[in-house]
Amino acid sequence: MKESELPVGQTHRVENVVSELEGYDLWAADTALQESVQRHARAAAAQRLQPFAQKLGQQAYLQLGAQANRYRPELATHDAYGRRIDLVSFHPAYHQLMQTAIEHELHSLPWTQPGPGAHAERAAFCYLHTQVEAGHGCPITMTFAAMPALRSTPELSFWSSGIMSRHYDPRNIAAPHKRGLTLGMGMTEKQGGSDVRSNSSYARAIAAAGRGAAYELTGHKFFLSAPMSDAFLVLAQAPGGLSCFLLPRWRDDGEKNTLELVRLK
Ligand SMILES: Cc1cc2nc3c(=O)[nH]c(=O)nc-3n(C[C@H](O)[C@H](O)[C@H](O)COP(=O)(O)OP(=O)(O)OC[C@H]3O[C@@H](n4cnc5c(N)ncnc54)[C@H](O)[C@@H]3O)c2cc1C
Repeated sequence: MKESELPVGQTHRVENVVSELEGYDLWAADTALQESVQRHARAAAAQRLQPFAQKLGQQAYLQLGAQANRYRPELATHDAYGRRIDLVSFHPAYHQLMQTAIEHELHSLPWTQPGPGAHAERAAFCYLHTQVEAGHGCPITMTFAAMPALRSTPELSFWSSGIMSRHYDPRNIAAPHKRGLTLGMGMTEKQGGSDVRSNSSYARAIAAAGRGAAYELTGHKFFLSAPMSDAFLVLAQAPGGLSCFLLPRWRDDGEKNTLELVRLK
């Protein structure tokens, strides 16, 4: 058809471009993934990954990734009456991605189903879900990665069991009232990224000092991804040197902790 013969309103033909990549099976289309899973993961892993991958390739599901990036999170530091709230609200698409990830244990699989091949299976799930959207992988990975640190301190067992839940609970309420928990990390400071020993935030014991005791932290962090996480592993200088603390967004007495957000990057 010549350009001059195009129907009214059509200015040109779209040619020599690919069609949208949607409505396909991310598992069936990925021989390398199938072989890797067969080699490194448990025998049952493929049966779990297959329906997951099929769901992700659907047009409506891929749209969630686009929406979660197009509609950016918004920070509200105060409510209408001037009270500090430090809330970040996300588009529903982001919550949907988080829910799928947590329901499939992308944040916990090697902890809830340990054994040879567990990490490879989780890696395959993450590899698939990242093809839809990458940003939500940050809180998912931080929650997953917090477990070894949490397990080193028996006083924090509430938190290690909370992150093994398969429920995504985004409500802004204290952790004991939630059905599932996520964790973030606050390590980097302006002068200390790779070299966290140069962190200047400091910790002061409220009563008894030592592992599992309560501390008050003072300082400023430069990166704190996923600020709506229920708690954060935070580095600060203790009298004995740099140490790692669990900082919940809500305190045990039901009050908001004084973790204040300055801006979204
Ligand atoms: C998207 C994103 C999300 C992040 N989220 C978080 C978060 O949730 N929590 C958090 O705590 N941090 C977070 N970070 C911060 C991240 O951990 C730091 O950016 C990282 O640790 C590097 O620190 P820096 O940016 O200060 O770089 P620098 O440490 O200043 O490094 C700058 C450059 O110097 C090089 N360099 C540094 N030290 C050495 C050395 N000794 N020898 C040779 N080369 C060196 C580095 O390789 C790099 O190329 C995030 C960063 C990004 C980009």
